[in-house]
Amino acid sequence: MEEPNWERLVEERRQKLTDLAKNLIRFNTMAPPARNTANAQQFIADYLQQRQWDVDKWEVFSGDPNVVGTKTGKEGNRYNSLILNGHIDVAEVSHKEWSFDPFDPAVKNGWLYGRGAADMKGGLAGILLAVDILHELKIDLPGDVIVQSVVGEEVGEAGTLQCCRRGYTADYALVGDTSNLNIQGQGGVITGWVTVKSQQIHHDAMRRNLIHAGGGKFGASAIEKMMILIEGLQSLERDWAVRKTYPGFQPGTNTINPAVIEGGRNAAFIADECSLWITVHFYPDETHETAAEEVENHLRKVAEADPWLRENPPTFIWGGESMIEDRGEIFPSLEVQSNHPGSLQLLESFKEITHEAGEINTSPTVTDGGWLADAGIPSAIFGPGTLEEAHAVDEKVEVEQLVTFTKIVLSFVYKWSHTLKE
Ligand SMILES: [Zn+2]
Repeated sequence: MEEPNWERLVEERRQKLTDLAKNLIRFNTMAPPARNTANAQQFIADYLQQRQWDVDKWEVFSGDPNVVGTKTGKEGNRYNSLILNGHIDVAEVSHKEWSFDPFDPAVKNGWLYGRGAADMKGGLAGILLAVDILHELKIDLPGDVIVQSVVGEEVGEAGTLQCCRRGYTADYALVGDTSNLNIQGQGGVITGWVTVKSQQIHHDAMRRNLIHAGGGKFGASAIEKMMILIEGLQSLERDWAVRKTYPGFQPGTNTINPAVIEGGRNAAFIADECSLWITVHFYPDETHETAAEEVENHLRKVAEADPWLRENPPTFIWGGESMIEDRGEIFPSLEVQSNHPGSLQLLESFKEITHEAGEINTSPTVTDGGWLADAGIPSAIFGPGTLEEAHAVDEKVEVEQLVTFTKIVLSFVYKWSHTLKE
């Protein structure tokens, strides 16, 4: 069959598209607190099922299920498969600052307003409308298409990682997260806890003996020793800023943030334990493993140079699966393979719809795309909305961009699915 006219098909369904996005926004899926996506995910599961997609739904956390819909291609073993990924959770809201109810969406002057409009219920709505149009036109694609509606993106819980672990893979993946219709890769993030711990516990009155000439006692305040490690982090951060670069990133974007510090018992004690929670940003050509290793090696050397830390070296806990549950997260980096047939096809579909050249660059933030890349799937972030609008008070997305996004997705899905595997 001849390729349908996606332009016209989507134009005729503008209302349907914004209604769909509004429906998704009405579900309050704020994270934190999280554990509140069950109804929204059931809506998506039903939506896919009603259009004859196979639906897999499972709890990632109680009250936060993932939904994966699969449309098996009629020649799936020969033709390219595709993952379309989006997260259903949205960033936290302080209602007081909004000029309207963040979960009561509205369209005004060509903009759709509501929490998640840009990040990324608008993108999800575009993907779902594409599913609907394919179903309505009774199009049986040759390749497999997988739609993932995941939880936990906003709090490092990586529902996408759980999809990868469950075995979902494809020849290409598109993450419909906020990119202003740029085709984007990303740097990565890993958090870690650095802990300094003394074997002995000393009374506050012992301080003179620990720190002054003639005190005669080998001991230390864990808080003061952590200061040495923090200075060590600063010199490593400066070295990274000077020596590492990546196209599209301002030099020094690879920061090491001492985000949270905890330590000491009370004022009657010398602090015998101190922990520092750090956020490490790295470039798309680095991995979270190597970034963590560099920090750890550096701090071990810093510790070697201090008499007390040499005997009481710091310990490290890297990453985590939730900022809420185990206070840690990882977002792997993602490099768009610009010569990959999937990326080239996406560029072509972009041009066909917009009559402009698409742009491949890097996102200054992180998305679940890193997990798909980490699983070996060539991936790109490509979605409507800008980062200024995402997470913002009175969040909004331009309806025109939602429409354009949906057209490009349809063109891309259709052509990619009709392309033989390499
Ligand atoms: Zn997002």
